[in-house]
Amino acid sequence: MPSLASLTAHPARVEIDRPAATAIRRGHPWVWRNAVRRSPATLRPGSAVDLHAEDGTFLGKGLWDPESPIAVRVYTTSPDQQLDLALLVNSVSRAIDARDGWFDTSDTDAYRLCNGEGDRVPGVVLDRYAHVVVARIDGGGIEPWTQALLEALWPQLESRGVQSLVWRRVRRDKTDLVEIAGHPAPARVVVTERGMRMVVDLLHGQKTGAFLDQRENRRRVRAMSAGARVLNLFSYTGGFSCAAALGGASHVTSVDVAHPAHAVAQETFRINGIEPSAHTFVTADAFAWLAQAQARGDRFSLVISDPPSFAPSERSLPRALNAYRKLHEACIRLTSRGGAFCASSCSSHVSLDAFLTTLDDQVTAGREFRVLEVFGQPMDHPTTPGWPEGRYLKFVVLGEVQPSLKR
Ligand code: SAH
Repeated sequence: MPSLASLTAHPARVEIDRPAATAIRRGHPWVWRNAVRRSPATLRPGSAVDLHAEDGTFLGKGLWDPESPIAVRVYTTSPDQQLDLALLVNSVSRAIDARDGWFDTSDTDAYRLCNGEGDRVPGVVLDRYAHVVVARIDGGGIEPWTQALLEALWPQLESRGVQSLVWRRVRRDKTDLVEIAGHPAPARVVVTERGMRMVVDLLHGQKTGAFLDQRENRRRVRAMSAGARVLNLFSYTGGFSCAAALGGASHVTSVDVAHPAHAVAQETFRINGIEPSAHTFVTADAFAWLAQAQARGDRFSLVISDPPSFAPSERSLPRALNAYRKLHEACIRLTSRGGAFCASSCSSHVSLDAFLTTLDDQVTAGREFRVLEVFGQPMDHPTTPGWPEGRYLKFVVLGEVQPSLKR
């Protein structure tokens, strides 16, 4: 393992093409490898580099990743700042400090402390789950810095009541929790989100354990659910389902292809005082289940759909939009007259406008749906205007206008 000092001692000069230079000036944090015009023949992962335009102008300082399609991630655009451990620690600290006072921890103790690129610390995500903080690191540029960075952050986390700091490290399909500081982390924690209790599996869960980005949307679903018959598709560990039940839904059906997710969902129901056996949990492919439900004539007054990303790349966009249309068509058919449909997408390649086209009049089959509200990710998942990839979450609330009796 190279020493951090040796990675920063003599920043290499890297020249990038004109469109990339424009993007960096506008605040984009990434340099794609094919935009690199000149760079040293070999550079170790995590080496600090100075970025320059082809005309020689200084653009910023970043860390080199020899392997991924993103060659450099930018940590500062100031020529006067040195890119070293102190700068990284300072940038993450700013993000952590900013969250102080945002949440009353008796109401919400699960939230993102640092949102990587969106907090101008590319590749560094820290999520708080009650007394545990889970770090997720993205990219070979920051990885050699991780251990030292996290250790340096520990005192300020500990002073905020954190008892364990772990790094959720993914290497070749294998995920493990590397203990960095504090007590060994429990495999599962119970967190509080807008007053709702949630079971989070830190090792097997998706992302860093849970989808914290849907927090405010789960709260919205809770507020919409009084007396509703609810269908939650792609329900995972039942966040939307339990929110709906707590909001007074008469019945909640949760559909997910992953059977173990339902066990966690049922535990979440129980710790919120809701008897899971009064509700339905189906292990099935959502598309196949929708066809069967349609054939049976099932109807729901509130339908929620939050599938995994359908568009892993720009190239797959047309296919993804088609899949969303099919999914939404089927959801609309199951939505009872005057009902509501919440359609979500977490694909960063699908813009909000493109996503709304998958809910057009052809998809709603001429029924009188209105877009009532449109939401994105919450304030602990901030973005920057120059980095459109960061605005990935869409949550569209549609409601059907009741046919007027007068006329
Ligand atoms: N709404 C959830 C997050 C959903 S994540 C929350 O707020 O926590 C997406 C989920 O879709 C995963 O649990 C995954 O198991 C499930 N999934 C993926 N493909 C599926 C399919 N074809 N049918 C049903 N579920 C699927």
